[in-house]
Amino acid sequence: MAPVATSTRTSSGSQHASSEYKVWEAPFGTGRTVRVLCIGAGASGLNLAHQLVQDYGALTLYDKNPEVAGTWYENKYPGVQCDIPSINYQYTWAPSPKWKSYYATGPEIFRYFKNVAVEHNLLRFARLRHKLVHAQWDEQRKVWKVKLERNGDPNDIIEDEGEVLVNATGVLNKWRWPDLPHRERFQGKLLHSASYEEGYSLEGKRVMVIGSGSSGVQIIPAILDRVSSLVTFVRSPTWITAGFAQRFAGKDGCNFDYNEEQREVFKSNPRLYLDYRKYIESELNTRFRFILNGSQEQKEARKFAESEMRRKLQSKPELQDAIIPTNFAVGCRRPTPGNGYLEALCSDKVQVVRSDIAEFTERGVRDKDGIEHTADVIICATGFDVSWRPRYPLIGREGHDLAQDWAKGPDNYLSVTVPYFPNYFTFMGPFAPYGHGSVLPMTEHFARHFSQMVGKMLDERVQSFEPTAEAVADFREHRQKFLPRTAWMSPCRSWFKQSTVDGEVMMWPGSRIHFFETMQKVRWEDYKIEYCSKNRFEYFGNGFATRETDGRDLSYYLGLRDGKDVQPDYRDEDIDIFLSA
Ligand code: NAP
Repeated sequence: MAPVATSTRTSSGSQHASSEYKVWEAPFGTGRTVRVLCIGAGASGLNLAHQLVQDYGALTLYDKNPEVAGTWYENKYPGVQCDIPSINYQYTWAPSPKWKSYYATGPEIFRYFKNVAVEHNLLRFARLRHKLVHAQWDEQRKVWKVKLERNGDPNDIIEDEGEVLVNATGVLNKWRWPDLPHRERFQGKLLHSASYEEGYSLEGKRVMVIGSGSSGVQIIPAILDRVSSLVTFVRSPTWITAGFAQRFAGKDGCNFDYNEEQREVFKSNPRLYLDYRKYIESELNTRFRFILNGSQEQKEARKFAESEMRRKLQSKPELQDAIIPTNFAVGCRRPTPGNGYLEALCSDKVQVVRSDIAEFTERGVRDKDGIEHTADVIICATGFDVSWRPRYPLIGREGHDLAQDWAKGPDNYLSVTVPYFPNYFTFMGPFAPYGHGSVLPMTEHFARHFSQMVGKMLDERVQSFEPTAEAVADFREHRQKFLPRTAWMSPCRSWFKQSTVDGEVMMWPGSRIHFFETMQKVRWEDYKIEYCSKNRFEYFGNGFATRETDGRDLSYYLGLRDGKDVQPDYRDEDIDIFLSA
C-alpha cells in the first residue's frame, strides 16, 4: 500500500470527455491525499488511529471529552466495571501485563486506554474538548465540512474538512433521564449512572435506583453497605446471569485478583498469555448458539439461569416470580451478569418495586398505583438514547439529514455505511453484532475494513464511496428474514429494539465470527464509486510505477535481498561466475 501521497487532485468531478482526458503525469502508486476526520477517541477511535498510522499515517481524532477512552472516561458510577474478562477486553496489538483482576473496574480500563494512547503515540492525533456540532458533505469539493465547539463554549467554533468522516462515537453515548414528568420537582439529589458525580457520598442516605440493566445491576451491590435503605424499581423481568466466561472466574463466577505468578506469565510468556486469552475468547464465541430459538444451548442457558436466580432469591421468594422472565429467552435483552445483585435484592435494607413509575415528586416518585416512594438520592440507571439519530445535523447528498432519514429507524449497509452519506463510516452502528462478546475485537475488524476503503481512495484516486440502494435493500431483506430465528425477537423490552418490546431488532444477522469474516474484504461491487477523474484509470499515470522512481527493488517479485525493499547496489562481480562464462 502506498504511503500518504502529497499529489494534488485533478479538478473534482470534472466532466472529461474522452478526447479531453489527459494522462496524469505521475507514476502509478503516487495516489492522492486523504484526510480522515474521526469523531470519538474511545476504544474505536484509538484503534482506527493505530490502524491508519500503520497503513498510511494520518488522521485527526476529535473528542468532546478532556480525555480519551470514551465510555470508560464518562462512566464513573459506583461499582462500574466490565462484565467481559479484562484479558479479553484489550486490543490484540496491546496486551497488557498489568490487569489486576479477572473483571476489571472502570478506572482500570480507563487507565489501560490512556496508557495505550501514550505508549503508541496516538495522542498526537487527538483534539480533545472538541465537540462535533455540524457536518455537511460538500458535493463540489467531495469533502466533509465539520464544525466543532471547543471547550464547551458555544461561541468558540472551529471548522475543519476532510474527505472521510468516521463516526466512532459508540452505541451508548447519549445517556437519558427516564421519560417521566416533573423531574425538576424532586428536591433531593438526582444522579444518572452515565453522568455520575464522582465522590458524592451516599453514606447513611435513603437511596432509590431506577433501572435493572447492566448499570443498575452493578450499582446496587456496590452501594448497599453505605446506604441506610434502598428502593429499586425493576420495570421489566430480566435474566440475571453469571458473568461472561464465569467458568474461568472465581468461586460462583465471582471476580478474583491475579496473583504475582500469573501476572509474571502476562509479562514474560506471551505464548501462554495468548493461549489463556484464546481459551476464554473461544468460549465467549460459542454464545451465539443460545440465541438461536429452539437450540439445545438456549434451553440449557434458560434452565441454568432460572435455577440460579431461584436459588439466589430463596430468602425473598416473592421476587422469584416478580423478576424471572417467563416469555423470553436468555439473551433477548443483553445478558446482565449480576455478581451480588440478587443477593443484594434479598437484603432487609432493599425494597424492590415492580410497579411502573407515574411521576417524580418533591420527595421521590409516585408509582402508577398512586403510592409515593421517597428517597434522599435517586440514581437513574435508565440507559441511553438508542435511536441512533445523530444529535447534530449530519447532512449528506441532496440535502439528506441523517436524523430525519432515520426518524422511523435506521437503515444502512452492513452497519458500516449509509446511502446519501459518501465516505461516512460508522463503528458499532445499528446492525453491528453488539449482542455478545467483547467489543474490542469488533473495533479492530471495523478499523481494518475502513482502512481498506481509505487505501483504495489513496491508491486508485477514488473520490467517494456510497453504498447502492440495492445492496442496502438486500441486506435489509436478509436480516429481516434471518432475525426471527433469534431470541432477540422475543417479547422483551430491550435497547437492541430501541427500548421497545416489538420494534425492529438492530442486530447483525449472525454471530460475531460471521460478522468478522464478512468484514474481511470490502465488497466494492456494492458501492457507487467516483474517481478523481472521469476516467477510472487516471491513477495509471505516466506509465511508470512509483517503485521505478523512488529507489525500491526493481526485481522485488523474485524475492528481496536481505528482506529489504531497496534497489541493491549490484556490481558485475556479484554474478561474475556467469558473466565470465
Ligand atoms: P439499559 O440496559 O438500557 O437499562 C436501563 C434500565 O432502566 C432498564 O432496566 C429500564 O427498564 C429502566 N428504565 C428506563 N426508563 C425507565 C422508567 N421510566 N421507569 C422505570 N425503569 C426505567 O441501560 P444500562 O444499564 O445503562 O446498560 C446499557 C448497556 O450498557 C448494557 O446493555 C451494556 O451493553 C452496556 N453496559 C455494559 C457494562 C459492562 O459491564 N460491560 C456495564 C454497564 C453498561 P426496561 O428494562 O423495562 O426498559
